[in-house]
Amino acid sequence: MVKQTIQIFARVKPSVRKQQQGIYSIDEDEKLASSLEIVLPRDLADGFVNNKRESYKFKFQRIFDQEAKQEIIFEIIAKPVAESTLAGYNGTIFAYGQTGSGKTFTITGGAERYSDRGIIPRTLSYIFEQLQKDSSKIYTTHISYLEIYNECGYDLLDPRHEASKLEDLPKVTILEDPDQNIHLKNLSLHQATTEEEALNLLFLGDTNRMIAETPMNQASTRSHCIFTVHLSSKEPGSATVRHAKLHLVDLAGSERVSKTGVGGLLLTEAKYINLSLHYLEQVIIALSEKHRTHIPYRNSMMTSVLRDSLGGNCMTTMIATLSLEKRNIDESISTCRFAQRVALIKNEAILNEEIDPRLMIVRLQKEIADLKAELAMVTGEQRTEALTEAELLQLEKLIASFVEDQDPESRLEVGADLRKIHYCFHHFKKLLNDKKTLENTDLSESTTQQACQEPVKDEEYTKLRSLLKQRDNEINILVNMLKKKK
Ligand code: ADP
Ligand code: MG
Repeated sequence: MVKQTIQIFARVKPSVRKQQQGIYSIDEDEKLASSLEIVLPRDLADGFVNNKRESYKFKFQRIFDQEAKQEIIFEIIAKPVAESTLAGYNGTIFAYGQTGSGKTFTITGGAERYSDRGIIPRTLSYIFEQLQKDSSKIYTTHISYLEIYNECGYDLLDPRHEASKLEDLPKVTILEDPDQNIHLKNLSLHQATTEEEALNLLFLGDTNRMIAETPMNQASTRSHCIFTVHLSSKEPGSATVRHAKLHLVDLAGSERVSKTGVGGLLLTEAKYINLSLHYLEQVIIALSEKHRTHIPYRNSMMTSVLRDSLGGNCMTTMIATLSLEKRNIDESISTCRFAQRVALIKNEAILNEEIDPRLMIVRLQKEIADLKAELAMVTGEQRTEALTEAELLQLEKLIASFVEDQDPESRLEVGADLRKIHYCFHHFKKLLNDKKTLENTDLSESTTQQACQEPVKDEEYTKLRSLLKQRDNEINILVNMLKKKK
């Protein structure tokens, strides 16, 4: 088991204008963490009452400034998570930030240049490279791609659909089993045996994602996309399978509804544009508070799907994407605040191992065959499933002579054959039961006989006795009379 708090990183989006200067500074001096200081521009700070701070400081594991390339983002943020997925742990990387701050660029990448490839294609490439190198295990990789919009899940990888609307895609629903495990009904899993196949799936999903988006339905700013690599591995001949899931998540834009800029809503908690992000925040707050027992995962589909990744069995990493221009300062500060809370959440990642029953049966069958062969070698005779007629007959004879033998020293020898030993026990049991039922019937017969006889009373007895005596006397008299007559 690996205990770890959620790792948080920040990435600052390059700005076209040079007006960001002086707004923020990054301090890399500290050993384990870097800190980002956001300084409120004077004209913005002036709008606040005096107790408002003029600068805000946030700690991150590392902060990537504007010039950071996609490669270093992969190396530092994604590679360690991909490695732990390869080792059998669940992993999640999610990008959080306002619309336009670079979430999609970071997770998926830009299409213009090869070097703009983001975390997903680089991770796929890395995973398949590692799988090829490692011949000690058998790996299976599946891909799924889910979009959640307005609390509805859509399968972005449905091969039958050329979606023109998001609603045309198959709807994915959540099922919870009695052990409270979440299952996604209707989300298709596609096996990918090579990097190319996996990239094709990413492309199919992204195409569906783009086609489904219209100006009226700005799905990308309001929906969450979860690209998942399902990796299972096992050693040859072993029945133990390891399952690991790697979620790469492009969240909806984190901006709040009302954006008045310099007005009263600045830096205050306003309404949320996205309800499920609001619930995500609730879950994060609940998880970061000690002694909270109820975590409201069920409130939204997204938090249900990511339940393991948030305070559960997962190695989780968050990338806060920041667009540090003057007009985005308030959003950037709330993104950073959110990240600070996320950093308090502890996860416990465990190896997800399970025994495949099919493989177990195959293994046990093989073991039985081996043992039989071994036994045949030792005893010199082939052993079949059941005893033959002849063997049974012989056993019964043996038992009969053993039972009849009055010699207390006599023994019943059947040899080292469990089947015969078991048969003897069964036979004895049967004999014993037969004897019992026999005794029972004898006993009941004698009692019924008794029950037929009338119970003789004492006075009646003497009456009968005297009657008998009288008859005796009468007979005697008659006999004497006959004798005299003669
Ligand atoms: P989001 O997904 O957060 O709404 P995007 O990733 O779509 O934001 O980024 C908005 C625009 O900025 C895109 O045109 C994207 O290519 C560009 N962009 C974002 N981050 C970077 C970066 N680090 N380097 C170059 N261009 C970037
Ligand atoms: Mg986006």
